[in-house]
Amino acid sequence: MYCNSGSLDENKDSIIKYINSIKQNSYRLSKLINNIVDTSKIEAGFFEMNLSNKNIVEVIEKIVMSVVDFTQSKGLNIIFDTDKEEKIIACDPENIERIILNLISNAIKFSNEGNEIFVDVKDKNEFVEISVKDNGIGIEEKNLDMIFDRFKQVDKSLSRKTEGAGVGLSLVKSIVELHGGTIYAESEFGKGSKFTVKIPSGKVLNQNISYSGNVRSENENVKVELSDIYS
Ligand code: ADP
Repeated sequence: MYCNSGSLDENKDSIIKYINSIKQNSYRLSKLINNIVDTSKIEAGFFEMNLSNKNIVEVIEKIVMSVVDFTQSKGLNIIFDTDKEEKIIACDPENIERIILNLISNAIKFSNEGNEIFVDVKDKNEFVEISVKDNGIGIEEKNLDMIFDRFKQVDKSLSRKTEGAGVGLSLVKSIVELHGGTIYAESEFGKGSKFTVKIPSGKVLNQNISYSGNVRSENENVKVELSDIYS
């Protein structure tokens, strides 16, 4: 429209606003499509995991560091803690990133300004325990089991405060299970929630070292996974 009327220059500010809005919604669409396609692939048994022996503590710390600026811009504080500096286990770093970014995205979405998010890694010998805890709105006991089901959301109303399609946690659970692990949620309504992921401490013999499935830049991954939250 602005092109046709030759008024691109005078409308620069609104053009920038609209382009940013298009970009944000493209990230959301990208996340939704990726999640739906991958859930279907998992169900059909075609989802490929690329396991390699990696220092899981470093992998998680890097993910947390990549969202510090974003969480701060939302008025939230994110804190990383670990009882061990190095723990090498078989994992798929790109999919571990998806698990953790999804949990952090939810922690941001369901928290209020001034709240805190704690990401903790604990070495329990046979497995590694990763938890993402917030002191946000919490989840009622009766809803704790259903949130891992596909398309299930506690607040489905059109007037709910956050975006999302209810596929994140179902995919997260499947990817955790593909690692041979488990996930569960604990919560106190009105006080906050804690999601705990347990990944077994095994190692793989044949690592796919040539694999570099990460076609998006790290920064782009964060933008896609956190796209439900408007900047
Ligand atoms: P989405 O976030 O797209 O709605 P998810 O599958 O990620 O879908 O989460 C399902 C539902 O679980 C959310 O809609 C929300 O009701 C609840 N939930 C998830 N994480 C949290 C959290 N940290 N605090 C409160 N509620 C949560």
